Amino acid sequence: MADAPTLRSDLDRLARNLRWFWHEPARQILAELAEPSWDAVGRNPVAIVAGLSDARLEELAADPQRAERIAAAVRDLDEYLGASDTWFDRHGGDRDRLAVYLSAEFALADCLHTYSGGLGVLAGDHVRSASDLGLPFIGVSLAYDDGYFQQRIGADGTQVAEPAPNRWEDLPVAPVLDADGQRLTVEVETGDGVVQVTAWSIEVGRVRVYLLDTGTDPVPAHRAITAPLYGGDNETRLLQELVLGVGGVRLLAALGLHPTVLHLNEGHAAFAGLERLRARLTAGATLAEAVEDARTELVFTTHTPVPAGHDRFPHHLAARHLAPLAERLGVPFERLLELATGEGEPDWNQTVLALHLAGRSNGVARLHGRVSREMWHRLWPGTPVEDVPIGHVTNGVHVERWVGPEVARLVARQVGPGWEHRFEADAWEPIRDLDAAALWAARAAARHRLIAVAQDRLAAQAERLGTVADGAGLDPDALTIAFARRFATYKRATLIARDVDRLARLLTHPDRPVQLLIAGKAHPADRPGQQLIRELVALTHDPRVEGRIAFLEGYDLELGAALTAGADVWLNNPLRPLEASGTSGMKAAMNGVLNLSVLDGWWDEAVSDFADQAEVGFGWAVGGTAEDRDRTTQDAEDAAALYAILEDEVVPTFHDRDAAGVPQRWVAMMKDSIRVLTPPFSTHRMVVDYVERYGLITPALAR
Ligand SMILES: *Cc1c(COP(=O)(O)O)cnc(C)c1O
Repeated sequence: MADAPTLRSDLDRLARNLRWFWHEPARQILAELAEPSWDAVGRNPVAIVAGLSDARLEELAADPQRAERIAAAVRDLDEYLGASDTWFDRHGGDRDRLAVYLSAEFALADCLHTYSGGLGVLAGDHVRSASDLGLPFIGVSLAYDDGYFQQRIGADGTQVAEPAPNRWEDLPVAPVLDADGQRLTVEVETGDGVVQVTAWSIEVGRVRVYLLDTGTDPVPAHRAITAPLYGGDNETRLLQELVLGVGGVRLLAALGLHPTVLHLNEGHAAFAGLERLRARLTAGATLAEAVEDARTELVFTTHTPVPAGHDRFPHHLAARHLAPLAERLGVPFERLLELATGEGEPDWNQTVLALHLAGRSNGVARLHGRVSREMWHRLWPGTPVEDVPIGHVTNGVHVERWVGPEVARLVARQVGPGWEHRFEADAWEPIRDLDAAALWAARAAARHRLIAVAQDRLAAQAERLGTVADGAGLDPDALTIAFARRFATYKRATLIARDVDRLARLLTHPDRPVQLLIAGKAHPADRPGQQLIRELVALTHDPRVEGRIAFLEGYDLELGAALTAGADVWLNNPLRPLEASGTSGMKAAMNGVLNLSVLDGWWDEAVSDFADQAEVGFGWAVGGTAEDRDRTTQDAEDAAALYAILEDEVVPTFHDRDAAGVPQRWVAMMKDSIRVLTPPFSTHRMVVDYVERYGLITPALAR
C-alpha cells in the first residue's frame, strides 16, 4: 500500500508533466483534490499538491481505490514517456534531428498565462501532438510575468481587464540550471546594453518547452522586457522578439542542443533567423551564402491576413537595437535592413525578414495561403502571383484535448483503442454505425454540462456585481448556439443582432426554443471591440429576447472546451477573407457540434474539399465567396443569409424528432461532422505535414 510521502511525490509528478491537461484521467485525479475548488486554485495542480496536508495524504493513502487510481495514472504516464514505438519511431524517424518551434505564445494549461488567444492555442496543440507522435521537438517562448488579462464584465457591459500574473515558483515549471546548479544564463545584445536571459523548463508530455526570462537581469529596464504579454509598446515588443529569437537560439546552444530546423511561428520569432546566420558568417561565408544556407533550416508560418497585423519597427528603433547584433554578425545594419524590407515595405518588417530567411513559408489554410501570396507578391516583382513561395499547411486541433468526455466515450468504442491518435480517414468510417440515440444522449449530456458551467459563471458574476443572475433563463434542452472568439471588429460579433425583432422571434418561439451563448475578449486597446461587447451585453437585457442570450465573461481554455463540446451550433461570421484559419470550429466539428459559418479560413476548405464525403451534410455555409465588397452590403447580405438558414434549416432540423425524441437528420449530420472532419483537421495531421517540411523523416516515409 502506498505511503503518504510516495503519494505526494507521485501526485507531484502527475502535476508537473502537463500531459494531464489533455489526458482526462490524470486531470480528474488532480482536480478532485483541489481545495476549496479547481477554479479557486487557478486550476494549478502544483499548488493543489503543495497544499495537501500530511493528514490528508494519510487519508488518501488509506483509501485503496483512490491510491490505486493514482498509481495507475503514474504508471500510464511512465509508459507514455518511455514508449519506443511512437508514430515517429514506426515511420523511420531520425532521432539525430531536432525541430525547434519558436512562438510568442503557448496555451499549455489555464494556470500558465502564457497565451492570449488562437495563436497560443494552436502552438499548444502543436506541442501536444508533437508529444503524442513522439517527435524530437522543443518549444521556445517567453516567461511573461503578467499574462494576458483575465476578463470581467461590468453591469453595463464594460470590459474590465484584471491582471493575470505568473508566479513561476508556484507553477509546473522548473528553472533551467547549468552544470554548477546555477541558473543557466545567455546574453542578448540590444541598444540598451547586454541583457541577461534565464529560462524555465516545462514538461509537456514527451516535449519540453522553454520560457525565456529577463527577470534576473540587474538592470530594472531589462527585467521589464519579458514582463508584459502584448502589453508593452513597440520598443518593448522589439526587445521581446530579440530575446525570443536570438536568446532562444543561444539557449539551445548553451544546453548543447543542435536543432536541424527552426520553425518560426509568426514573425515574432524572426530574429532567430539572424542568429542562425552568425555561425556561417563567423566561418567566413558572405551574407548571401549564409542566407542561402540558413534557408534550408528555417520554416515560417504566417497567421495574419490583415496587412496592419504584421510586426513593423521604425528605422530608428530597429537601427538602435539591432546595431549591436549586426556588429557581432560583422554585417552593416543597412544590409540586414535589406532582408527585412522590400517594395512597399520601408520599415523593418518581421514577416518580410522571415519570408526572406525561411526556405519554406506557409499560411494556415488554403484560402489564407492565396491571400498571403497576394499580400506579399510585391516582394517578388516579376514572379506570377501563384508562384510566390508561400504555401499552406492547414491548422488543426488536438483531438484528445478538445473532444468532450461524452462524445469521446462513444467514439472510443466505435473507432477503437488509440482513436485519439488516428488521423486516417478510414479509421473514422465506423462512426457511420454509431447508435443515433446514444449520440443524441451524449449531445444532451454535453449541453447540460455546458449550461451548468454557464450558470455557474453567471452566478459568480452576479454575486460580484450585486445583481441577480440571469442564467436561470437558460434551458439545457434548448437549441444552443455559441459564438466565442476574440472581439475584433472583422469577426462581426453583432451580425446576428442586426435585426433584433427577427432574432427575438427565433429565440422565443414557444415550441422551438433557441438560446445564444457569447464569450470572448477584446484587446484592452481595442475600443471598437469593447463597444461590441457592450452592445451584446445590453442586448442580453432586452425584454424582447427574454433572457435567451447570455454573455459569459472570462473566455479561457476551460470555457472554450465546454462551449465547443456542449453547444449544438457553432457560429462564425467573419468578413471573408480576414479569418486566417479559426480553430474553434474544428473543435466543435469533432464534437458533432454543427458549424454555421461564413466561407472563410478552415471552413472554406472543409466545405470545398470534404462536403462530398458527407451523407447528409456537416453544417451550413453562410453567404458566398465574394470578397472586397462594400462592408454595409456584405453585412446586410450575410445577416439575411444567416437568418434564413437558422429559420429554414437549423431550427426545423433540430426539432424534427422521431417517436423516441431523436432528431434523426440532425444526428446524421453530427456523425458526418465527426467522421469526415476529425481526421483532416486534427493537429496530428497538421504536425505530420510539418514533419515533411522539417525534414525529420524522408517524405516518402511520412504517413
Ligand atoms: C480554440 C480557442 C481559440 C481559437 O479559436 P478561434 O476559432 O481562432 O477563435 C481561442 N481561444 C480559446 C480559449 C480557444 O479554446
